[in-house]
Amino acid sequence: MGTNVHSRQTRQRNAIREAFLHEKRTLSAEAVLELTQRSLASISLATVYRNIHCFLEEHWLQRIDIPGRAAPLYEIAGKKHHHHFQCGTCGAVFDLDGCCLKSEPQLPPGFTYSGHEYFIYGICPECLSEGPQQKAIMDIRRPAPRPLLP
Ligand SMILES: [Zn+2]
Ligand SMILES: [Zn+2]
Repeated sequence: MGTNVHSRQTRQRNAIREAFLHEKRTLSAEAVLELTQRSLASISLATVYRNIHCFLEEHWLQRIDIPGRAAPLYEIAGKKHHHHFQCGTCGAVFDLDGCCLKSEPQLPPGFTYSGHEYFIYGICPECLSEGPQQKAIMDIRRPAPRPLLP
C-alpha cells in the first residue's frame, strides 16, 4: 500500500511539473488542475496546491501576484528578467520578454534603487479575434507567438 500511495504521489508531482514545462508560462492552480486532469482524472485542487507549495520551497516555482487578481499565479523560477501581460477578457497571463524600463527611476536623495515590477494589461490576440462576447474563464491558452511589446 505504501508504495502505491508513493507512486501515485510521484505521478501527480510529475504531471504538475509537466504542466509548467509544457505550457511554458504563468499558471494559476486552477489551470494546473485542468491541465493535469487530462492525464490524472482523480487529481484534486488540494493536491495541486500541496505540490505547488513544495515546488515553491524548492525554488523551482515562483509566485506572481498581479494587482487586482485574487488568486496568485506561478511560473518556473529563475527566468531572465521579464514582465507579464494580462488579458482583460480571458484573464490569461503571458510573458513579455525583456524590459521596457530603459533607465533607472529618479529617486529622492538617499534612496537606493533595487528593482521594479510592473504588469501590462490589454487583450490577447485570441480574444481579439473571437470578439468580446467570449467571456469563458479560459486560463488555459497557448501563449502568443511573440510578445506584443519590445
Ligand atoms: Zn484573452
Ligand atoms: Zn523590467
